[in-house]
Amino acid sequence: MSSIIGRNLLAGAEPDPAGDSGYGAGHPERVGFFTDTSVCIGCKACEVACKEWNAIPEDGLELTGMSYDNTQGLGADTWRHVAFIEQSKPLGQAQAGVDHSGVDVFALAAQSSETPSQTAAAAPATPGPPAADGRTELRWLMASDVCKHCTHAACLDVCPTGALFRTEFGTVVVQEDICNGCGYCVPACPYGVIDQRKEDGRVWKCTMCYDRLGAGQEPACAKACPTDSIQFGPLDELREKAKARVEQLHATGVTDARLYGESPDDGVGGDGAFFLLLDEPEVYGLPPAPVVTTRDLPSMWRHAGVAAATVLGGIATVFAAHGAQRKGLR
Ligand code: SF4
Ligand code: SF4
Repeated sequence: MSSIIGRNLLAGAEPDPAGDSGYGAGHPERVGFFTDTSVCIGCKACEVACKEWNAIPEDGLELTGMSYDNTQGLGADTWRHVAFIEQSKPLGQAQAGVDHSGVDVFALAAQSSETPSQTAAAAPATPGPPAADGRTELRWLMASDVCKHCTHAACLDVCPTGALFRTEFGTVVVQEDICNGCGYCVPACPYGVIDQRKEDGRVWKCTMCYDRLGAGQEPACAKACPTDSIQFGPLDELREKAKARVEQLHATGVTDARLYGESPDDGVGGDGAFFLLLDEPEVYGLPPAPVVTTRDLPSMWRHAGVAAATVLGGIATVFAAHGAQRKGLR
């Protein structure tokens, strides 16, 4: 274990979260997820595999009006969530130079559910410009979201019972039999991931299939993903792979490609589950610059200590002055 004396373990550089949590020098290397959204096809095999392996109850099959998204976001019963984002924006190189800015994607979606005669009646008099390669589809982004297994995990830092803990693989896991349902971790998570079940208030989230890791197997979602959009492995290797993939995409004209959560210098010390995105994080419902919510605790305690010392000093001075005054009167 590296020396932790005098270091701020709540923010900043943290090369070995498992070691600093007490695991010996021989602990396994840190593992994680690299989710490459550029090859996600929205099949939801990851959502299904996650539910099946972890025996997660169903959470309603609702028509949300948000494309093919029927779970809306991560929650106590949704540990993988596939977002569907429809955009009137050209694809990467495939549609360079084609302007879709005047296209109403929702009107087109409504048309597609109408009968042929209705569609013909509603067809615009002058159709929009065709794509350079003759295709008519619009850009459709899909991304499988998950707990980020943060390097500095505020959920874990604020948990009073030890239900949340850092594993030997550097991941963050919640033990439902120890959770007392206080809910402190819920507002602490900068990504809004961890969530309570209504029935008893206990919290649940992705464990990165801790039981499978212990048996030398990859998590169920990564195993099930048919396109390798979800890649699992040693975090350092995944970071290298991800950088190479971004360069490859840029070279082929997909200049929007960027990484999200891979940098150890970001506000949470880097995510154990990071992403390749094709647009701004906000488009996918991700915070643009997340910061671990416990980052300022050490300086807050320092300021509180200084304030308490000042108050005590003031009280002592008043008592001393009062005592001297009484002596003078005698
Ligand atoms: S994303 Fe939220 S729930 Fe997951 S480890 Fe980070 S703080 Fe905890
Ligand atoms: S299994 Fe893979 S391709 Fe299918 S939705 Fe999940 S991430 Fe996308």
